[in-house]
Amino acid sequence: MNKPRLVVIGNGMAGVRTLEEVLRLAPDHYRITVFGAEPHPNYNRALLSPVLAGEQSFEEIILNDLAWYTDNGIELLLGRNVVKIDRQRRQVIAEDGTCAGYDRLVIATGSTPSRLSIPGNRLDGVVGYRDIAGARAMIETARSHSHAVVIGGGLLGLEAANGLKQRGMDVTVVHLAEWLLEKQLERPAGEKLLRALQARGIRFRLGTATEELIDNGDGRVCAVQLQGGEIITADLVVMAAGITPNTALAEAAGLPCRHGILVDDTLQTYDPRIYAIGECANHRGISYGLVAPVMEQAKVCANHLAMLGFARYLGSPAETRLKLAGIEMLGVGDAPHPGQVQGMPGACPLHEWQIELASGEVVAWT
Ligand SMILES: Cc1cc2nc3c(=O)[nH]c(=O)nc-3n(C[C@H](O)[C@H](O)[C@H](O)COP(=O)(O)OP(=O)(O)OC[C@H]3O[C@@H](n4cnc5c(N)ncnc54)[C@H](O)[C@@H]3O)c2cc1C
Repeated sequence: MNKPRLVVIGNGMAGVRTLEEVLRLAPDHYRITVFGAEPHPNYNRALLSPVLAGEQSFEEIILNDLAWYTDNGIELLLGRNVVKIDRQRRQVIAEDGTCAGYDRLVIATGSTPSRLSIPGNRLDGVVGYRDIAGARAMIETARSHSHAVVIGGGLLGLEAANGLKQRGMDVTVVHLAEWLLEKQLERPAGEKLLRALQARGIRFRLGTATEELIDNGDGRVCAVQLQGGEIITADLVVMAAGITPNTALAEAAGLPCRHGILVDDTLQTYDPRIYAIGECANHRGISYGLVAPVMEQAKVCANHLAMLGFARYLGSPAETRLKLAGIEMLGVGDAPHPGQVQGMPGACPLHEWQIELASGEVVAWT
């Protein structure tokens, strides 16, 4: 008997977690094909910072090696960027012309670091922090260049700054808000974190906007100009000022999107044959940028793909961890002040937050 075809676009954490669950619940139900734009098997993206800081190797953060795909009969198409979903013919088409038909399709394309729309944002040496290629580019630059500027003092920006500092670069973080992690921390805790990071030699410009990235005359960035005119030397600029869900494919296919592909409580899109999960999805107005919610979504989606049909996803609490060796910071619950947590609209009640510095001192509040 011909098995139905399940195609997954995106060989990242959400897509592969869904497959693991489908294989557990209905091991023989589908013929499975995965398209991955990156040339690697699935790895733990949340552990890129330890790789950047030289604390772990890339091999150590691989979650599913190539043998896992083979052993489970999955056709893995690496380095294949899908450029079109043809809903009439029920096919997906990659840039190189590879085409695969589907009975069920999962879109798990993640997101892309947002690029500030300022002059010079496309110069060489201006990078986002999203994948192992980006982390390797930063490590390579740190071997031959000295000065880095990180735009954004959120979780990713601080982890990037710490990693580059560990790699021997002179690092400055430029942050629009007046204290670090302003979406997760109250001002006193943000200021303690600032002092702990300054003690590591990282410099900061807070409450400041970046106005322009300056060309060295050869198409490469050489400096950053801040509001007010200050100029900071920069051979490398890391943009860590938010993420944008990858919805272009879905939008072109006519699926409704609003800062993420709109899904219901089963992670189904407007088209009943197509699901969307992870950072590219928008569930009840929220696009999550964290692993835990993505894993919960994967379980629910798999329950429906496996034809069990009883699970529902109702949303997840926000929990964030800053991964800098020597500084423990765990945020549990909602934002400590009204506003916008990543993709999370509206004012949130206060739960419990704490920050523990290398000295052992803990700042906590409920
Ligand atoms: C540096 C860093 C540190 C992080 N740290 C933490 C942390 O400490 N805690 C935490 O909870 N979360 C953390 N996160 C977030 C976490 O990694 C993400 O929430 C999670 O990876 C989202 O999974 P996803 O599958 O939706 O997206 P991804 O893991 O990004 O996977 C999407 C995949 O789809 C591929 N793709 C995109 N478009 C196409 C296409 N057209 N065709 C084929 N393939 C395509 C991409 O190349 C990518 O491989 C971190 C993220 C980064 C970048």
